[in-house]
Amino acid sequence: MAISANRPSSGDRLVDWIFRQFLLLLNNRKLKIRRKRSVVKFRGKRRWAVRGISDMTAGPDNRGIEITISSAKSVHVNRHQEVETLIHELAHILFPKVRERFIRVLEDILVAKFIKEQRRLLGSFLPRRPTKK
Ligand SMILES: [Zn+2]
Repeated sequence: MAISANRPSSGDRLVDWIFRQFLLLLNNRKLKIRRKRSVVKFRGKRRWAVRGISDMTAGPDNRGIEITISSAKSVHVNRHQEVETLIHELAHILFPKVRERFIRVLEDILVAKFIKEQRRLLGSFLPRRPTKK
């Protein structure tokens, strides 16, 4: 998809700049997005369901980026919430050195500031069907 001049705008330059960076990422062939019925993290013997994960060393050459969003209804009640997680994961990729709790603050700000058309455009990159594996 081409990034057009009539891209939706929040009117806030910083928010729109981040939105543009997100679109550039989403249009980058190195980035893959999938939805999965269960997204789980492991640490030692512990495993727990998460909203999403991003892997910045994906693919055969370890240079791909993969975002996996949980499609479990117990995690995201609806598509809107999945878009919020997509915003969170894109923020991790755009600011890889920023810590989790600051990414959460950024997510909250962006979710509040992005206008409906911006969120809808981001959501259009989520695949319709979850992958099996
Ligand atoms: Zn995170």
